[in-house]
Amino acid sequence: MNTKNKGFETKLVHAGDFNDQFGAAVPPIYQTSTFAFKNADHGARLFAGKEKGFIYTRINNPTIEALENKLAELENGFGGIAFASGMGAVSALYAALLKQGDHMIGSAAMYGPSRSIMETFFKDFGVESTFLDTSDLQAVENAIQSNTKLIYIETPTNPTMVLTDIEAISKLAHQHNILVGVDNTFASPYLQNPLNMGADIVLHSLTKFINGHADIVGGALIAKDEEIYKRLRKAMTYFGANMDPHQAYMVIRGVKTLSLRVERASENAMKVAEFLENHPKIAWVKYPGLESYPQYELAKKQMKLPGAMISFEIKGGLEAGKTLMNNVKLSLLAVSLGGIESLIQHPASMTHASMSKEAREAANITDGLVRFSVGIENVEDIIEDLDQALGMI
Ligand SMILES: *Cc1c(COP(=O)(O)O)cnc(C)c1O
Repeated sequence: MNTKNKGFETKLVHAGDFNDQFGAAVPPIYQTSTFAFKNADHGARLFAGKEKGFIYTRINNPTIEALENKLAELENGFGGIAFASGMGAVSALYAALLKQGDHMIGSAAMYGPSRSIMETFFKDFGVESTFLDTSDLQAVENAIQSNTKLIYIETPTNPTMVLTDIEAISKLAHQHNILVGVDNTFASPYLQNPLNMGADIVLHSLTKFINGHADIVGGALIAKDEEIYKRLRKAMTYFGANMDPHQAYMVIRGVKTLSLRVERASENAMKVAEFLENHPKIAWVKYPGLESYPQYELAKKQMKLPGAMISFEIKGGLEAGKTLMNNVKLSLLAVSLGGIESLIQHPASMTHASMSKEAREAANITDGLVRFSVGIENVEDIIEDLDQALGMI
């Protein structure tokens, strides 16, 4: 079925599907490493790109391609490339677009490993980088150098919940012939489509909202045009962080309900954020749906709904944070996000515990900061659970 001119929800369900010989309703799992050629000439034509077909699963595979085509349509891109993980996609993006002597600008609070790999491996390869608050357009402009080739942003960022104006950044970057990559993991393609706002590449950790069921790890890049797509695909094929067909099948299955899941999680998150904002033990709440949110207008312009992610600060610092963690019963104490189950995380005692208090504060990771990925459970149950746990502080 051609879903190009259909609505987003129709694309979620049907885009990328293909007809196999048995009329299977969903793309079957082609669990094979290699594909037999009909004869020598057929093999030659496939290798030369003169005929469409499959050669070897690291290069491509029907199940994986079905997912890639679906993701490309969801983000309105030229083509999608699936990876074994979100970090596989990040590494391929950097490797494909940056070489020795180049410079990139990134959001300071981006996903930790996306920044670390740039400041360790890629620095050793001779790539320069500047990480700053990309919500400050003037600061981004000031950081542009003659060798800047990529601006890579994450919006909203984790766990500080700061937005970057994708349209404004893209305009600025293109005046300087710089490519723009957007990590769209937190918003998901249902809430935000960066390519429509001028970005060149979109990245997703499929592990989060797109798969949505906390049962696989995966990543993807979606490119605006063929030229960028080819560069990215080459990096995936050569570096080899390719997705597995079974993994692709799981993501195809998970993504079909993306709009339903994100809509419900966002609705729940709004109620949870309002509850927290009025709770005496909470110092502040950052949620793009609250009028108190500093970038409320940008959130309304850029995102379809405020999403499922909330950050808040508990009064009482480290101990209060630990008490909350030790007393919630419904939400799981876990990293990751974007699943159907609520996940809660206290960076100061968990993910960032090995950092000094000073280093944490420099990164805006305060002692009472809590990150909450709101799930699709009954919202009264989620609130009641938080309420009883906050009562223990
Ligand atoms: C999880 C995550 C990644 C990395 O993805 P993996 O699938 O864990 O490799 C990158 N960016 C963001 C925003 C993430 O949340």
